[in-house]
Amino acid sequence: MVRPIRRFPDPILKSTCRPATRDEARRVAVDLVDTMRAHPRCVGLAAPQIGEAIRVAVVDVSGHPLATAHNGLLVLVNATVEEAVGREVGREGCLSLPAVTADVRRARRIWVTTDSLDGGRHEIWAAGFEARAIQHELDHLDGILILDRVTSVRALHPRVLPALQRAP
Ligand SMILES: [Zn+2]
Repeated sequence: MVRPIRRFPDPILKSTCRPATRDEARRVAVDLVDTMRAHPRCVGLAAPQIGEAIRVAVVDVSGHPLATAHNGLLVLVNATVEEAVGREVGREGCLSLPAVTADVRRARRIWVTTDSLDGGRHEIWAAGFEARAIQHELDHLDGILILDRVTSVRALHPRVLPALQRAP
């Protein structure tokens, strides 16, 4: 089910999410994927963005031109970044902050472990744009937004909204 997106300054976006049970993760992951797919160019979504303060997020960069390598659709449940290598600044947007984009420093390569929806735990290696998307979504689970990651106002850029792009 496509769910409404919570936008800044909705307080759920600043909350620290609790671990998800497998049943909760299954239910919320389906809605996260539906909602992500309903927004063109959206490459990830975290549970608090649809009003659920639990540690579930989805990422899928496979259709994005900046994604050189990827793992397809990722469902992250109680995920942990085990290792992070390298540093790189890149531009990010967020459905919860529709008016801006921001230059954010992230690790270039990450090793993540996550619960599987059918039991057990598995690992994910990600690099570049996909690693950036994962780090962005996992930040949401700790109440961290791109606004919290910028070090200067020069790193914030107003987004030209579609309504403003239309010719008069
Ligand atoms: Zn976001």
